[in-house]
Amino acid sequence: MNTNPNCLFCKIVAGTVPSEKVYEDEQVLAFRDINPAAPVHILIIPKSHIDGADALCHEHSELAAKLILTATKIAFELQLTEGWRLVTNVLTHGGQTVRHLHIHLLGGAQLGDFGVVKEFRRRPCGNNLGDF
Ligand code: 5GP
Ligand code: ZN
Repeated sequence: MNTNPNCLFCKIVAGTVPSEKVYEDEQVLAFRDINPAAPVHILIIPKSHIDGADALCHEHSELAAKLILTATKIAFELQLTEGWRLVTNVLTHGGQTVRHLHIHLLGGAQLGDFGVVKEFRRRPCGNNLGDF
């Protein structure tokens, strides 16, 4: 398992920084965001350090799916029957402040419009996933 001694979320995984855990297994940890943006605001992270969604590659396929499935499981457990939102911020323009991959699970109330400038919605295809 990769760990980065300077990474806040690695410290949460190690238990040296406390967190309010919602779910845990060998690969994944979910805990409540310290500064919630919605009544339900949970962060789902891989225990092994990955910088962000930009650092994902084919070998992470199963883990990436597991992060989303974990979010779904938590959303149902918390009875977010009216819906929820999953967000992962990437690097500076994406607003990533903690450089350890995490998915935000937001819900419990009607969420506001997603903060995307329309002109930038159309993006060319292409990423580091090759033919995936
Ligand atoms: P980002 O801005 O990188 O997408 O999300 C990082 C999130 O981590 C923010 O929503 C922020 O509130 C949360 N956060 C920052 N420090 C801590 C902490 O020490 N504990 C917890 N539980 N959440 C944190
Ligand atoms: Zn980390």
